[in-house]
Amino acid sequence: MPSQLGMPLPRHAGDELRDGALRQLASAAKALNLDPGMHKFLATPERTLIVSVPVMLEEGRLEIFTGYRVQHSTGRGPGKGGIRFHPNVTLSEVEGLAMLMTWKCAVTDLPLGGAKGGVAVDPRKLTRRQVERLTKRYTAAILPIIGPEKDIPAPDVNTDESTMAWIVDTVAMMTGQHSPAVVTGKPVELGGSRGRTEATGRGVAFVTLEVLKRAGKRPEDIRVAVQGFGNVGSVTAKALHEAGCKIVAISDVSGGYAASGGIDVAKAIDHVRNNPQRLLEGMSGLSKISNDELLAMDVDVLIPAALEGVITQANAGDVRAKIIVEGANGPLSGDADRILTGRGTTIVPDVLANAGGVVVSYFEWVQSRAGFYWELNEVESRLEIYMRRAMELVLATANTYDCSLRESAFIVAVQRVASAIERRGIFP
Ligand code: NAD
Repeated sequence: MPSQLGMPLPRHAGDELRDGALRQLASAAKALNLDPGMHKFLATPERTLIVSVPVMLEEGRLEIFTGYRVQHSTGRGPGKGGIRFHPNVTLSEVEGLAMLMTWKCAVTDLPLGGAKGGVAVDPRKLTRRQVERLTKRYTAAILPIIGPEKDIPAPDVNTDESTMAWIVDTVAMMTGQHSPAVVTGKPVELGGSRGRTEATGRGVAFVTLEVLKRAGKRPEDIRVAVQGFGNVGSVTAKALHEAGCKIVAISDVSGGYAASGGIDVAKAIDHVRNNPQRLLEGMSGLSKISNDELLAMDVDVLIPAALEGVITQANAGDVRAKIIVEGANGPLSGDADRILTGRGTTIVPDVLANAGGVVVSYFEWVQSRAGFYWELNEVESRLEIYMRRAMELVLATANTYDCSLRESAFIVAVQRVASAIERRGIFP
């Protein structure tokens, strides 16, 4: 789109993300022969709020940040989606991520819509107290559109359970009501769900083992490389290791670590826990490799669980794994996806593979609304039911439409959202 001066505006990563989400919608709309009006409806966010977030950093130094909350669709239920604090947050990025939340909730059949929020800020440049003030002012600004029956935020990049606790406090101070169901990802002592922290990694491991089972493969014969050893990567690696798979490489921002005989994942987790920077750096008994080498390893399963856009047109040709399970959000570019799908690689897309986190977030919302909290085994067995059901439907739909699992997941999701909106009718 040209600027007012007729010069093309620079494109940001957020524009790419939103355009990618719109392309995936368009492809599902085509497969479903979706009504053009409904396609247009689903391509447009329902509600966008842009707020200024003034924070008195210290006496006499006022800084103004820009915050966003976008509700892409509430057709199937209240909005659901994280809040990120990052200097690169833009409206288009938040719009794209909100749309992806709509599909993620729909593919797992949660009675929730899709939303996302963010503040363009580098929280590493602020003190903890300043981040708390920023969070509380941002929450006050978006309060008119969030709430347990409206839109339920959660943690995302650079936000965590403390951020959620500050939001609960702000809502309580401004409304006079204790409403823990206003957010998920809270500390357990403030109404968080047991098992939420491990949920995404457990879900990633579950879908990986299901794909292997359906391919007639035994976990004992499977070599896995996991990129990223944070929350998602470490829990996934541990669960797959416990299921019998051989984890032959892991990595984090400090680089990659490999052992052809298999890595002792519990030991690696201990190492990270005791490392002052929470890194794998200094792990003994493993060969040091680069993150690029990890992606190109001769393994059966590759699990990118660190960042978006790590496999692109430039390195897709080097990937040798026959199965890729997207632990991270958007680790493959559109080009990489086409190249690898064309080569027959099975790719379990993020909207399905890493949906365990939002499934247990949904459980947390249910528990907080009921004021009754489940035991860990109840959370885990229910998570498995939701993941299995979603997985089976995505696999069956891929057969029906003779398409990739990614296209299939979007077809399932778009069809569900469109059908809910049709059943409700367009107001008025
Ligand atoms: P995290 O911050 O706990 O871990 C990220 C890991 O990636 C760390 O080990 C970090 O060192 C590593 N990393 C960072 N930069 C890297 C690089 N350049 N090369 C290799 N490794 C690098 O984050 P997380 O919660 O595990 O999230 C990981 C991904 O999963 C993100 O894309 C996130 O959006 C996605 N995700 C997370 C959840 C969740 O519940 N945590 C849910 C859905 C999706």
